[in-house]
Amino acid sequence: MTENPQRQKSTPLETLIGVFGYPAFRPYQEGIINSLIRGEDAFVLMPTGGGKSLCYQIPALHRPGVGIVVSPLISLMKDQVDALRANGVAAAFYNSTLGEREARRVLMELHDGRIDLLYVAPERLMGDAFLERLAELEIALFAIDEAHCISQWGHDFRPEYIQISRLRRLFPGVPVIALTATADHQTREDILIRLGISRAACHITGFDRPNIRYTVEDKRKPFAQLLDFLRFREPYDAGIVYALSRKRVEEVAARLSAEGFAAAPYHAGLPDRERQRVQEAFQCDDLQVVVATVAFGMGIDKPNVRFVVHYDLPKNIESYYQETGRAGRDGLPAEALLLFGYGDIAIARGLIENGGNPEQNRIELHKLNSMVGFAEALICRRRVLLGYFGESLAEDCGNCDICLNPPERYEATEDARKALSCVYRVGQRFGMGHVIDVLRGSRNERVRELGHDRLSTYGIGATLGQEEWGGIIRQLVHLGYLEQDLARYSVLRLTETARPLLRGEQTLILARPRIRPVSAKKPKRGSRPGDNGKGCNEMLFQALRALRKEIANREGVPPFVVFGDATLTEMAARRPVDAGELLSVSGVGQHKLGKYGAEFLRVITGFDESA
Ligand code: ADP
Ligand code: ZN
Repeated sequence: MTENPQRQKSTPLETLIGVFGYPAFRPYQEGIINSLIRGEDAFVLMPTGGGKSLCYQIPALHRPGVGIVVSPLISLMKDQVDALRANGVAAAFYNSTLGEREARRVLMELHDGRIDLLYVAPERLMGDAFLERLAELEIALFAIDEAHCISQWGHDFRPEYIQISRLRRLFPGVPVIALTATADHQTREDILIRLGISRAACHITGFDRPNIRYTVEDKRKPFAQLLDFLRFREPYDAGIVYALSRKRVEEVAARLSAEGFAAAPYHAGLPDRERQRVQEAFQCDDLQVVVATVAFGMGIDKPNVRFVVHYDLPKNIESYYQETGRAGRDGLPAEALLLFGYGDIAIARGLIENGGNPEQNRIELHKLNSMVGFAEALICRRRVLLGYFGESLAEDCGNCDICLNPPERYEATEDARKALSCVYRVGQRFGMGHVIDVLRGSRNERVRELGHDRLSTYGIGATLGQEEWGGIIRQLVHLGYLEQDLARYSVLRLTETARPLLRGEQTLILARPRIRPVSAKKPKRGSRPGDNGKGCNEMLFQALRALRKEIANREGVPPFVVFGDATLTEMAARRPVDAGELLSVSGVGQHKLGKYGAEFLRVITGFDESA
């Protein structure tokens, strides 16, 4: 505890600047860090890329003893530890990949108080021998990463996490911080109870990922559309293309390779070794595109994934959000493109209907419908996404295809009122299909049997087509005038918001349904992501990238461990000429300055514009 100067002397902010090289905390980070330093428990729900790691890394440096980090993914531990070491932090991991000698060395360092952060797999941590060792040591904190793995409610339950529940009783005085990016209310409660930290302060940040641009394109000629999209990217931008089947994955990867892209397939049918190779090549910037089934992702901790393309329709919004969330973890602009084909809906529906129990199927069908609703949305995509997770945006995002290329709007008060009153007339007990049938005056059997052809709203919407009414009703759902009951056949019901509209006290502008979605405007090429108009020199940026890659190879770490893209972009824009200026670039801390500063300064100062 003596060799670490942060502990006594500096503030968390000074550690952020000096060790990690970042000029300011992100929202929430500072509060969480301070409460943990005071010894309080914390629960943190932040989106991927939100900056969760610093929330326990900095307190571990400021509290006496070693910080123990529980993480489920062995493949990620090494990267995390490499990244910390690159900043001069005494970090290590302890898991089954270590040889006997290495493991013994880690334990010795641990005993000597020479480790500030130890990453441990849960089953290792909870072994009796290891717990006995810990009992003799001073422990700064326990950080439980991917904390939803402890809950059976969560989508990623891991039995080995259950054991962690004992930590609180075994180490009553040590603060516990639980972190996750995916927890609904039930899972959240479950995490707190299981970890025995029900009094923990909950820090819940928004779900929004403002740097990701969401675009949905009508799926016409998917491969040609993918090529079109990729050709608008910089040739070194890395990304993931998700497809539904192994066969499609193989096919798209082969065609991309034939077009000259550094692309590779990834799916559960490939041998472990091959999958490992693809993953590492991607981490190390040696592969540009990974075409993958959803098997690819959990083990990916690459901050500079610039795009995620969905070649096929994801099965629900949760998956879509998680998969697109792998883009832009470094906070720089990133793209999420969904190719949306009506045929895909039928395929997805078929897969669900062939599956297990009816109750489950109904929920999955509803979730699929919400996904389709997103793809068909005529209002800001981000509003729909966040709305799905129970969050609302104060205004349209300005960074999705709808905001950038808005559909035509029209005075829709009359139409909306017709739809709402029809929902009311059928007793708020039917889904969209039936409501539209009644509105359009359908003669189908169900309508007649129910006597709905005698309702006052029967046939009042005959001038509009089925798809148009679908578009209107979905907008009413997204805007909160109607709600769909998940548990009961997606039944439509009015909300309080609908009243003034029904009573004629309010008017409403809606987007005119685009029966054939117009393809989205392409992002402008030219400006580099993160450039912010500061005039990042492209050639200098390339030279810095080459140097980064050289250093990464030399040290056997992924390039982003040396410096992130944002840091290189800032260097290429500001062109620091000495150590002091280089240190003020975000992402350059004292340790990296000492280690790499001279090499980077040499490239920057020796850069010849005219060459
Ligand atoms: P999460 O675990 O929430 O997905 P990370 O902790 O990996 O996210 O952080 C995502 C990225 O943001 C990392 O590259 C990290 O270094 C960076 N980051 C975190 N906090 C800050 C900050 N205050 N300033 C600048 N970059 C930050
Ligand atoms: Zn938007």
